[in-house]
Amino acid sequence: MPPEKKIALVTGANRGIGFETARQLGQKNVTVVVAARTLKSAEETASRLKAEGIDAFPVKLDVTNAQDRDAAARTVGERFGKLDILINNAGVGAQDGLVNKTVHTTEEELQKIFGTNLFSVIAVTRAFLPLLKKSEAGRIVNLSSILGSLTLHADPKSPIASVKTFAYDASKAALNAFTIHLADELKDTKIKVNSAHPGWVKTEMGGDGAPMEIPEGAKTSVDLALLGPDGPNGRFIHMGQELPW
Ligand code: NAP
Repeated sequence: MPPEKKIALVTGANRGIGFETARQLGQKNVTVVVAARTLKSAEETASRLKAEGIDAFPVKLDVTNAQDRDAAARTVGERFGKLDILINNAGVGAQDGLVNKTVHTTEEELQKIFGTNLFSVIAVTRAFLPLLKKSEAGRIVNLSSILGSLTLHADPKSPIASVKTFAYDASKAALNAFTIHLADELKDTKIKVNSAHPGWVKTEMGGDGAPMEIPEGAKTSVDLALLGPDGPNGRFIHMGQELPW
């Protein structure tokens, strides 16, 4: 009997790194649940992928919305009975002009960025954890950023030392803490949890000046989604290499 098809859910799958991650997983014969903020956007995304021969299924999931999270988990449970891969990809970037303005970061900015990049990732993961526990090899990939590295920010000679976007960077550092804590909690299960730094990628968030194209930018997420049993757990990875926390 052929092995059962893996089911992956990608948040923010309608564009950027999320869309490409869904596409590359689909090309590897994974069924992809494409989650997007609106149903229309999820359906359009699934149609684009299906036109490429990919098995894609749309769900509405504004990650900040508790009703959406519950409904999406229910839908995936009813349709597939399990989830093998959860890619917590949806994220929001720093507002323009907030580089090196830590003390001026507003409460509103902190709430917005932490709301999406941290609190929603925790809540989405909690909603899908019962389905991930039904997988033979559950994988959770949290889209972090090298800008979340406290070690590199604390080193004045590091390449990111001059790019201090406080709310965004702190949200990703806290997300990394979630990765470490959850991986430890789940270490006796078949689930692995890792943080991915995709690279600086030409998307709406990364901007035109980014050196990496989107297909390369999705590679770390895809690799971590398909890790074998001996793969890393609770690590911070970029293109197969560990990054400092
Ligand atoms: P992007 O092009 O700006 O796309 C962001 C995606 O997140 C969009 O699909 C967006 O949906 C979705 N999203 C945001 N808030 C959401 C919400 N409340 N509910 C559902 N979806 C939501 O960004 P990207 O560059 O592909 O980034 C993907 C991830 O990689 C992010 O977590 C980012 O922090 C991380 N990252 C990116 C870079 C880079 O250089 N690009 C570097 C390091 C880390 P809408 O279209 O509905 O807004």
